[in-house]
Amino acid sequence: MKIFKEIESLRTYLKQIRQPAGLIGFVPTMGALHAGHLALIAASHQECNYTVCSIYVNPTQFNNPADLAKYPNTLDQDIAMLEQAGCDVLFCPTHTEMYPHPDHIRFDFGLLDKTLEGEFRPGHFSGVALVVSKLLNIVRPDKAYFGQKDFQQYLIVSKLVADLNFNVQLRCMPIVREPDGLAMSSRNTRLTSAQRKRALVFYQSLQQARARLHAGVAFEVVKAEVKSICENQPEIKLEYLALADTANLSLLKNVTTQSILLIAGYVGEVRLIDNLILTE
Ligand code: AMP
Repeated sequence: MKIFKEIESLRTYLKQIRQPAGLIGFVPTMGALHAGHLALIAASHQECNYTVCSIYVNPTQFNNPADLAKYPNTLDQDIAMLEQAGCDVLFCPTHTEMYPHPDHIRFDFGLLDKTLEGEFRPGHFSGVALVVSKLLNIVRPDKAYFGQKDFQQYLIVSKLVADLNFNVQLRCMPIVREPDGLAMSSRNTRLTSAQRKRALVFYQSLQQARARLHAGVAFEVVKAEVKSICENQPEIKLEYLALADTANLSLLKNVTTQSILLIAGYVGEVRLIDNLILTE
């Protein structure tokens, strides 16, 4: 009989028994796939033997019912893209499959789920943590791939995985952008062509903020400048521009060795987010 006192060695042993065929990579998504999602699939493809993708628009992470109702659904096109990308398995469950009973589990990540996205989308990260927990337990991947685009989500999932001992290695992949710099997002498909042009203001604000910070301007001043740029644009409503620590998202007044600029706001009725990791 084998006796294990350490979680890691027990898992390593069980893994050898369970998966003689190789590593399973997992890419959870909400569909309406674009090149950002495909970059995650490609990374999994490169590092793992099997790639599993999920498409599930998780209702428990939507604090705004209108946003959920309008979330784009392009399943046939998504399936074609995944086949083309060499994805091995797609999991696209129904709501009754995922939530057969009313859900009551709530997560509390302290400051991490109250700040920034958490402040403007109350309950959002509890829903994310719930669905990611369920998906990780269902798929039991060796590695799971997330985008830097949702940086706060990545930190939440990292905390979830560490604190609940999920046996998975996480990867955070860079933001894939349109040629003009707009961060790819499923929500971009909801923009009119005029709004699509205006949406660029968020990325431009991040770039300008980075340049001003690197020139030694205080963040409070930079923030006021960005606010005034956004206020002068039609259909743009800035929710926040923040300078934060990449480890825990605590807010910063000046750039440090681990800082990130994060921005969120509306173009018309469409809410977009973006960020830039700063290096000194
Ligand atoms: P979503 O379908 O929007 O829930 O996103 C699924 C995964 O794709 C998340 O880990 C996102 O962070 C990631 N993702 C979304 N957009 C991008 C992008 N433009 N570049 C890289 N990853 C992205």
